[in-house]
Amino acid sequence: MPIPISVPEIDDEGLLARYPFLPQGASFIRSLLEENDITVENLIDAPWLEDIRVRGMLRLVDSVLQQEGDGVSSSIDISTGVGRMTEALSFLHAMLIVCASFDERLLARWIEGESSRADRLLGMDSVNFEVISSSFLSGIETRVDSRGSEDYWIPMVDFIELSPKISGKYWRLVNRPVKEGWVCLDAGAGESGRGRASRLIKERIRESLRESCEERMARMDDEFAAKFADPVDRIVGLLSERVKEEMPMTAAIRDDWPPCFESAVSELNQGVNVNHTGRVFLAAFSRSIGLQQEQTCNFFANAPDYNPDTTAYQVGQIYEREYTPHGCSALKTNARCPVQSGEDSLCDQEWLNHPLKYIRAKQRRRFNSDRDEPSDTDIEQSSSSANPS
Ligand code: SF4
Repeated sequence: MPIPISVPEIDDEGLLARYPFLPQGASFIRSLLEENDITVENLIDAPWLEDIRVRGMLRLVDSVLQQEGDGVSSSIDISTGVGRMTEALSFLHAMLIVCASFDERLLARWIEGESSRADRLLGMDSVNFEVISSSFLSGIETRVDSRGSEDYWIPMVDFIELSPKISGKYWRLVNRPVKEGWVCLDAGAGESGRGRASRLIKERIRESLRESCEERMARMDDEFAAKFADPVDRIVGLLSERVKEEMPMTAAIRDDWPPCFESAVSELNQGVNVNHTGRVFLAAFSRSIGLQQEQTCNFFANAPDYNPDTTAYQVGQIYEREYTPHGCSALKTNARCPVQSGEDSLCDQEWLNHPLKYIRAKQRRRFNSDRDEPSDTDIEQSSSSANPS
């Protein structure tokens, strides 16, 4: 995001907490972590940071459910130091969960949720509008027109880059007043000029969030991402329920399956009588990775004792009650882990204690190979990815 080249200084911590995605917010978040001696590990499980985790998760849920309004964070009192810390670090926590998921759908939803929230807040925030807009646009000028309304003029270069991403005739250059390289965003159709300018800035915020997330994901290694396995599973499960139509079972996704899940599916398909643990695991794991209930039932179609009604009922129970899939040790104890030491480098990792961690690690590798960037960094580097720089 090369524009603007320099951003205004912001000393107001309440403002930085309210808009933590500002370019100036990175050093604020870093100083909060340092001053309060908070590590990523603390953020994941220290009891005294529970409020931050709850806020972060609610913020994510807002995005996934595409809830209107300003979401939970509007209820935080940012006039206090604790309130400002909760607001800013809940943003960081949510971002780390999104990055650790390596799930493009979740990433897109979260970015949309955060940028839409910013759009709404900014449209109403006359006090801070100028400093925020100057942080995302190469210039902005306010002029009062002949009807007494405020028009916002922005450089053509910003308009040309950002407006094609917005639909509507208003956003076509031929429909905008232009003067000496500046484009006018005036009021119209029930929206103020500031509301229009905020809409444009939303596109820049979206770009900025995506860039930050992609950089962070490229730095994240398997072990670091696995620390967020629990919240990632919860939010991906919610997303899967929400957008059922977006659940393709592609070959690429199948490539990510852990051997224990792959073997349960293959054995059932070949008519082998998979034991009770294997069947429950298969259904619970399918739910966790977002497969449709019907797809899961189909896995059982070749089982020797297959009965469509019984299968539909039992799979339905597992989906409704949101069973957590078995971990590696339970699968090994129940003869449902097909891998011996040395046969699968991921399964050999000390931190790999759950098949969901396996699939996340595979997704991370696929993400990195798609980007054609180096994937492995040491844990110190990935821990430093908690810093928002
Ligand atoms: S080690 Fe764990 S993830 Fe790997 S196959 Fe066995 S149970 Fe599955």
